[in-house]
Amino acid sequence: MHVAVCVKMVPAPGQWSRIVFRDDGSLQREGIELIINPVDRNALEEALKIRQARGGTVAVFSMGPPSCLEHLREALAMGADRAFLLSDRNFAGADTLATSRALAAGIKKEMPGFDLVLCGSASIDSGTAQVGPQLAAYLGAAHLTEAFSISVGEQNCFQVRTAGSHGYFVTDLRKPAVISVTKQLNKPRIPTLFDIMASCNKEIIILSSAELSLPKSESGLEGSPTKVRELFFSPARRLARILEGSMEDRVEELLRQPGVAGVLK
Ligand SMILES: Cc1cc2nc3c(=O)[nH]c(=O)nc-3n(C[C@H](O)[C@H](O)[C@H](O)COP(=O)(O)OP(=O)(O)OC[C@H]3O[C@@H](n4cnc5c(N)ncnc54)[C@H](O)[C@@H]3O)c2cc1C
Repeated sequence: MHVAVCVKMVPAPGQWSRIVFRDDGSLQREGIELIINPVDRNALEEALKIRQARGGTVAVFSMGPPSCLEHLREALAMGADRAFLLSDRNFAGADTLATSRALAAGIKKEMPGFDLVLCGSASIDSGTAQVGPQLAAYLGAAHLTEAFSISVGEQNCFQVRTAGSHGYFVTDLRKPAVISVTKQLNKPRIPTLFDIMASCNKEIIILSSAELSLPKSESGLEGSPTKVRELFFSPARRLARILEGSMEDRVEELLRQPGVAGVLK
């Protein structure tokens, strides 16, 4: 079983106040501490479990700046066999479509016989949840989102559980497939010192847009059909009402408010 895992590096939560929105709507993230997008660890954990049960290989793919390399090392320490970083000036400013196109080109080139591609359901920074479905379209693979359980079936398929509004669905998904996963799927392992040392012998390959035969017009900002026009924070609004009068009057008034009496009983 050959499994590719897409891992995005995102700003560490303590660093969010340092992210600068440029005038052109792009994000300036240089010099900001990165972490592996949390749910992508669940995707990697599942790939490692599948390899343990069925054999095969696990490769990690990421698109981002060279500072992502050290975090790919972490993915290798968790147990991935190989890691690929799609990194090139031409990839900068990519929207979700250009990101998916590049990741699909990387997977097609480096893991042409893949059985499964795992993604997180959404990143914690842009969080569009579009990359998984778009990746499936580029790879011509079957796709499901919001998976909280995956088992490998006998009939050349994966059995996947996804949440519905009043329960859950159990779906057979034929190979090759792309599955976007949730945090409920598993508990990601923490690499030991031995794992970290062993990861130093594993290779991280950097892929450029030229190596993926992606012209500039199909990569990064130039290859992105969407452009952020404006970014703003919606102000938090709370309806505050100061009660007046004696303590008894204020308590009586408070108890008249819908829902309050039930809470205090
Ligand atoms: C118009 C526009 C301009 C942008 N400009 C910039 C910019 O200048 N600089 C910038 O840093 N970002 C920019 N972004 C954000 C960037 O496009 C997104 O980070 C990227 O497309 C992934 O989208 P997402 O985070 O919403 O992924 P989601 O769809 O929420 O992610 C789902 C899953 O897909 C996988 N995934 C997503 N992205 C990657 C990746 N890069 N590598 C590996 N796996 C991945 C992960 O498994 C992830 O959990 C821009 C976005 C838009 C729409």
